[in-house]
Amino acid sequence: MQRDIYDEDHEAFREVVKEFLRRYATNEKREQWERDGEIDRATMLAAGEQGLIGLSVPEEFGGAGMLQDYRFRAIVNEEVIGAGQGSLAGAFGIQDDLAVPYLVHMGTQAQKEKWLPRMATGEVLGALAMTDPGAGSDLRGVTTNAKKVDGGYILNGAKTFISSGKTADIVVTFVKTGEGNRPDAFSLLIVENGMEGFDHGKKLSKMGFHGWDTAELSFTDVFIPDENLIGGVEGKGFVQLMMNLPLERLSIGVCAAAAGEAAFKWTLEYTSNREAFGQAVADFQNTRFRLADMATTVDVLWAYNDRAMELYRQGKLSADEAAKVKFWSTEREWELLDMGVQLHGGYGYITEYPIARAFLDARVHRIYGGTNEVMREIVARAVTGRK
Ligand SMILES: Cc1cc2nc3c(=O)[nH]c(=O)nc-3n(C[C@H](O)[C@H](O)[C@H](O)COP(=O)(O)OP(=O)(O)OC[C@H]3O[C@@H](n4cnc5c(N)ncnc54)[C@H](O)[C@@H]3O)c2cc1C
Repeated sequence: MQRDIYDEDHEAFREVVKEFLRRYATNEKREQWERDGEIDRATMLAAGEQGLIGLSVPEEFGGAGMLQDYRFRAIVNEEVIGAGQGSLAGAFGIQDDLAVPYLVHMGTQAQKEKWLPRMATGEVLGALAMTDPGAGSDLRGVTTNAKKVDGGYILNGAKTFISSGKTADIVVTFVKTGEGNRPDAFSLLIVENGMEGFDHGKKLSKMGFHGWDTAELSFTDVFIPDENLIGGVEGKGFVQLMMNLPLERLSIGVCAAAAGEAAFKWTLEYTSNREAFGQAVADFQNTRFRLADMATTVDVLWAYNDRAMELYRQGKLSADEAAKVKFWSTEREWELLDMGVQLHGGYGYITEYPIARAFLDARVHRIYGGTNEVMREIVARAVTGRK
């Protein structure tokens, strides 16, 4: 089904992204990133130079100024994921959807001036650390804590599963600054790489997304200056997270739609060229019906995500609508990839093929950004009016 959310500027930008992929994202590069567990900094700097990251950074700080407009980010996701470069898309997303928004929308003027220009160029990479080893879904169970001292905070505790945790230069970190677990007991602090007492544990070995690191972080009496308190006001961390989570969930929905579409295209191409019993696999009635199902699911995925992007642009994407988009899209993505793997036969299980890599990458979409069970809880609360 034809989509109508993009105009000429978006399509021109799509060409920039495609050219970037031709120049900087070869298969050899991907294999290197997967071996290293990170995207090399030169590629991130090139992405900054070509305007593929820092899209929501205001123009005065060197970005594209797309504050609430996710369409350019969607094009990056469509093209990069469609090229079989899921890890690269993930690395861009960690910067643009997880880290940058906390500075753009909630940072003080001084924080914006200090970090945003270099985040737009890729000189400074960010990460977001919410999850403690003992608390993921239940964020109010976080025990990583920062005690107020003269001129700043003393931070102690640990975080786990942090995307780009090892490669990031700054980590927006969710910590307890008050007593109990009321929303105003939490704050967000910028922890800088190299601060004394800030250590990276091991890179965790994971099922997919091999091209960016997932790390454990530990904090032992780390002094964080007052100027690194996001927004400059203590006790706002929980509200700040809630403000950005709809964007994070929309971004996962859009990635899921992009991966679902890629799954359909790869499968159509593969089954059209593969022969069995003297005919193309695409000519078996079973394959034809599955391809018809896949194409229709992709259309619905985009119709839903396009609408969500429009609501986000208007500032109207509520937490429960974003939660619906996240869980529904990632579950359709999973079905599409599973079907794609099946129709590729044995080759679908071989990670040389993009369908196999995308399948492994996709599994975490139903877990991070809030598990799909937690998403359903949010939606259930909204539709029933009951806690
Ligand atoms: C590859 C990867 C990257 C990640 N990146 C980041 C990152 O950059 N930053 C970050 O902060 N975190 C990150 N995470 C952490 C991720 O967000 C958490 O793993 C996720 O929120 C789930 O938390 P948990 O692992 O503690 O699971 P738990 O909360 O222990 O959940 C275990 C199970 O219980 C279910 N459950 C929990 N509560 C409820 C409930 N109320 N109702 C029904 N079921 C429930 C869950 O759905 C799940 O099935 C990442 C995780 C992975 C795997």
